[in-house]
Amino acid sequence: MKQINRALILRRIYDCSGIDRASLAKLTSLSPATVTNIVGELIRERLVEEKGVAESTGGRRPILLNINPTRYLSVGMKIGVGYLDYTLFDLLGNPVAADRVIIDGEPPQAVVDKTAEIIDGWRRGYGDSILGMGIAVSGLVDTTTGTIKNSFLLGWKDVPMGKMLSEACRIKTVVMNDADSFALAQFLKGRAREYRNCVFLTLGVGIGGALAIDGKLHTSSAGVGEFGHMAINRDGETCSCGSSGCLEAYISFYALARKVSQSTSSQELRDLYSHTRATETSEMDYLKRALVEDPVTVQAVFMNMSSNLGVALKNLINMFAPEYLLIGGEALDFSDLFLEDAIAYARENAFLGLADNVVFDVDELGEPAWSLGCAFRIIESELFSVKR
Ligand SMILES: [Zn+2]
Repeated sequence: MKQINRALILRRIYDCSGIDRASLAKLTSLSPATVTNIVGELIRERLVEEKGVAESTGGRRPILLNINPTRYLSVGMKIGVGYLDYTLFDLLGNPVAADRVIIDGEPPQAVVDKTAEIIDGWRRGYGDSILGMGIAVSGLVDTTTGTIKNSFLLGWKDVPMGKMLSEACRIKTVVMNDADSFALAQFLKGRAREYRNCVFLTLGVGIGGALAIDGKLHTSSAGVGEFGHMAINRDGETCSCGSSGCLEAYISFYALARKVSQSTSSQELRDLYSHTRATETSEMDYLKRALVEDPVTVQAVFMNMSSNLGVALKNLINMFAPEYLLIGGEALDFSDLFLEDAIAYARENAFLGLADNVVFDVDELGEPAWSLGCAFRIIESELFSVKR
């Protein structure tokens, strides 16, 4: 019972920073004595701090309580195509340290070994304040076992990444689909927190998606929100997943770079393409270079991408009628070339004005968003849930 009350009080202080003891008692329906007792314990643990006083409503001015954000830390790791990103977050999701390792088709064990080195280094610097590590990865993930069931982009199948990393790094782990982790971050630090029904679409080397209904992100069964693999053309281009006509086969960096190289008259760009490998940075660099060398071709390719994206947005609106639709991912670097038209098409063509009240938004959290959501899952399970 005490553990439940402690988790309850801690969560309230976390959600309403600057709350006082009397309001905590009211909000949690616990007795003032219980609240005082548990808050005292949390202060002794340095997990909660007394900071400032509220206006007096008669009598003593109440002391305000806040989470001590650096008392514990959580690691977020994004396994990208061609890189591993590590961020050490404080309890409020602010980055405290970060590292990036470039990889080139390494097998899972090599990724685990590199990660163990980084975690060991951080442990030397930050001691046992590190609660655990969240891992964000593209593709189908079994979140209950921490197994990457299938990541087409990495070419990994049935990899028990959670188990491998928790053994090698001696740390608690959770594994999530990267777009789910990204979406969860938007609820923590982005504008998504103001809405209950949200669709998230990420555009880059892969096309990711996530879905929240009634304020709850759907992560319970692997594959919810694989919007990149919605079909927009039955007999169309071949997709990384092996099927044909998926959205990803038309609007991912891979598809765009290939299209540019096929359409350009610049021999230099064609040669460069043959050296471009399927990593997020190199395809993006290729498109940026091509925009300088042959802007007309690149603009035409993005115009075509925009019309395919518009169809996808219309479909998503017709299926989920979201209040909030957020677009993120590295492709936002090119947003001038495609975004406005895609949204305009979806607005005008969605079923019976369903799009009229949709708030379209673009990600402003950037790179750390990918690993923040899964790092927060660790904070949640270690501090706000009751262990059995
Ligand atoms: Zn596909």
